This record gives sequence, C-alpha cells and structure tokens, in this order.
Amino acid sequence: MGRVIAVANQKGGVAKTTTVASLGAAFVLRGLRVLLIDLDPQSSLTFSLGIDPDVVEYSISDVVRGEVDLSMARLRTSEGMDLVPSTIDLLAAEAMLLPAPQREFVVRRGLEEVLSTYDVILLDCSPSLGLLTLNALAAADEVIVPLQCEMLSHRGVGQLLDTVADVHRLLNPRLRVRGLLPTMYDKRSTHARAVLGDVKRRYRVPVLNPIPRSVKFAEAPSVGTSIIATSPSSSGARAYFRIADGLLRAWRFGGRKVAPARPSRG
Ligand code: ADP
Ligand code: MG
Repeated sequence: MGRVIAVANQKGGVAKTTTVASLGAAFVLRGLRVLLIDLDPQSSLTFSLGIDPDVVEYSISDVVRGEVDLSMARLRTSEGMDLVPSTIDLLAAEAMLLPAPQREFVVRRGLEEVLSTYDVILLDCSPSLGLLTLNALAAADEVIVPLQCEMLSHRGVGQLLDTVADVHRLLNPRLRVRGLLPTMYDKRSTHARAVLGDVKRRYRVPVLNPIPRSVKFAEAPSVGTSIIATSPSSSGARAYFRIADGLLRAWRFGGRKVAPARPSRG
C-alpha cells in the first residue's frame, strides 16, 4: 500500500512544492513508484514539472467534482513520477465541496483505487488551511511541514499542528507528524541557527535535517524538472536525498533493497 504524505503549511513560499517535487524525484531514483498530487489552484507543482495546466485534459478539479476517477487524471512526468495536475478550476471545485456530505474525504476516496499501485504518494497543499488541505490531512499517513528559519515565519506552525491534532482526533487516526522541515536554511546565519534552535524547543515534534538555501532551486522549475534532475550532486539535491532515505529507513524499506525503478503503468 502506498504511503501518503501531505506536505503542508498555510504559509506560502516555504518550499512545499519544491519539497514535493524533489522528494518525489529522489524516491523515483531509489526505485519507488511515486504519485504526486497538486492540491494548489495556483498549480505551481504542475508548472514546475513542465506541464501546462491550460492544456491538460483532466485535473484534480475534475476528481474533486466527482467527474472522473483519479487514475484518469494522471500524467507521467519526465522524471518518472506520476502527477495529478491542478488547474485554477480547483478554487471553484473546492467551493462546491463545502456543502457536500463527507466533504473531508474526497481526496481519500479518490486515492483508494490507486493506493496499491504506488509506494509513495505526495500531496502538495495550497497555502491555506481550507477544505483541500483538510482533505490532504484526512488522506495522509503523515505530514511534513516545511518552514523557513526566519523570525515570524513559523508563527503559523502552532496553528497547523493544532489542526493536525484535530484531524487526527476527528477524521484520521493514522495521521502523524513526520516532522518539521527547515528549508532555505543558511547555516552561516546566526539568526537562522537561533530560529532553528527555537523551533526545536517550541514544538514537540521531530525536526528533520535542514535543506540549504541555494539558487539552484530557483533554476530547476524553469526547465520543468526538480533539482534532482538539474543538479543531482548539489547540496540541495543531496539534502533531499537524505530526507528521502531517512523516510525509507523509517518505513523499514531501508536495509532491504527496494524494488528496481519501473513504470507504474503502461
Ligand atoms: P511553496 O510551495 O511553499 O509556496 P515553493 O516550493 O514554491 O514554496 O518555493 C518558493 C520559492 O522558493 C520558489 O521560487 C523556490 O524555487 C524557492 N526555494 C525553495 N526551496 C529553496 C531553497 N532551499 N533555497 C532557495 N530557494 C528555494
Ligand atoms: Mg506551492
């Protein structure tokens, strides 16, 4: 059964999308079958993996509206992960969900038919704590919370962790916090180190190894791939490989050889 990981933080620009794309690509190179789902109407993940949301046949919006099965909306990216793209229609689709019964479980239900065909499914959340993010948390086995080590920038993290606790209690007892993921980290900055120390003390959840700040991250999406493809030996790519390998170990794939790379369909 595929492990479902939500990457969430209601703050924008903290590297949620970068984390989903980079971890996804790293997992593919480790031989896993990977599905990414873009749950942000701004479609950053879709764009950054080289897909134009304006020309896709189906998207997560159609799945949320119940018009197609999730498997119909999948595309294959150049790096070998599957992607369910998003479009701007997702805003309207989310609004339509509001009065629906079981409205928190639409993503979970959509995933059911494909769960057994993937090893990892990563959900890229929008910068809000709205219904789609609740759907992601209700569908996930674990959540990773990227954050920047800057004053004030982790102020919303407590609120997010409270929401995760509520979802755990009310909607999804499987959900656990895999960890906070410091991103754009500059270890030479005294300020960043101080904020990282504060983050470690303040929240009673694991803190993963920081991802360094690097201009290479800004370059990758412009060619439609992750940093794993454009600069595989860069410090940023290596940092995401470390996170991916840590997750694999935690799931006990580690030590054992995982399956060789293979397409998940077709
Ligand atoms: P979010 O999805 O949380 O809004 P993004 O992943 O889109 O955030 O990242 C926001 C911006 O920061 C993007 O331009 C991205 O290229 C850049 N970025 C992400 N991670 C890093 C990093 N480690 N170092 C430098 N820039 C980064
Ligand atoms: Mg994003």
